[in-house]
Amino acid sequence: MHVIDPGDNRGTLYIVATPIGNLDDLSPRAVKVLSDVAVIAAEDTRHSGRLLQYLGISKPLIALHDHNERGRVQNIVDQLLSGADVALISDAGTPLISDPGYVLVREVKAQGLRVSPIPGPCALVAALSAAGLPTDRFLFAGFLPAKRTGRRTALEDLCKEVATLVFYESPHRILNTVADIADVMGAQREIVLGREITKTFETFYSGEAAEVHAALTEDPHGNRGEFVVMVRGAEKAETGLMAGALDVDRLLNLLIAELPVKKSAKIAAELTGLSKNELYQRALGLKDS
Ligand code: SAM
Repeated sequence: MHVIDPGDNRGTLYIVATPIGNLDDLSPRAVKVLSDVAVIAAEDTRHSGRLLQYLGISKPLIALHDHNERGRVQNIVDQLLSGADVALISDAGTPLISDPGYVLVREVKAQGLRVSPIPGPCALVAALSAAGLPTDRFLFAGFLPAKRTGRRTALEDLCKEVATLVFYESPHRILNTVADIADVMGAQREIVLGREITKTFETFYSGEAAEVHAALTEDPHGNRGEFVVMVRGAEKAETGLMAGALDVDRLLNLLIAELPVKKSAKIAAELTGLSKNELYQRALGLKDS
């Protein structure tokens, strides 16, 4: 446990959010911090170089991406220890949100050095704020697996989740992902896609999964641009009521008498809304006893 003293004269690592499309979304405070720090660590120095040039800021840049993050951390820690302030930015939005920086922040904090966020654009928050889906509870799951089988398994695992689900998706997978959501979670599940948020062709598609898939397929620009995918959570009744009404062990005992344990757990999960993995463990125990 450590508390960092604000009077500490060692450097601060600032985690600076940058625009997700519209450059006017960069906050005055972000501009000030980027102008004041000694060094800027950036996911892609060429990409960020253009933003800094637009702002008239000229600073030494350190490339920090998923493939070199571990190696670069010590260099940045040394700069902070020497009293220099450092800013971390990513290609767009908030660093660490499906972007590099976790290893760095972990290490900087482990050294007792200060990390301070400069909040601003983040695609998932912008998308949720305009989607019209419940936001009291949401689950951000980053990018779904690229391969179909992995993606469908991930969706199956989230099928009974009552929180609004949020994913990032690339343009060349968006149609397949929406098709898989309709297939695995139900053609009528309400979804919202936020496309090109804050940019010229910003579009929100809202409706049942099958309808949104059809709309996207018909739209000649449907699979272009960047997407946030949001899925309404499962109805509470689907998960809670059945489980309460049924004796889960009795149900599992009946199923495992006729079927393999894995299949029994899957059916019991469908009926009760309880976790497939938990039911699998429970069914294994029942079988052993
Ligand atoms: N760190 C970023 C943030 O704070 O949102 C996200 C980085 S992640 C590598 C990039 C993904 O974010 C894109 O593939 C897309 O799913 C989503 N994204 C970024 N900008 C977007 C925008 N303007 N409109 C919709 N989605 C966007």
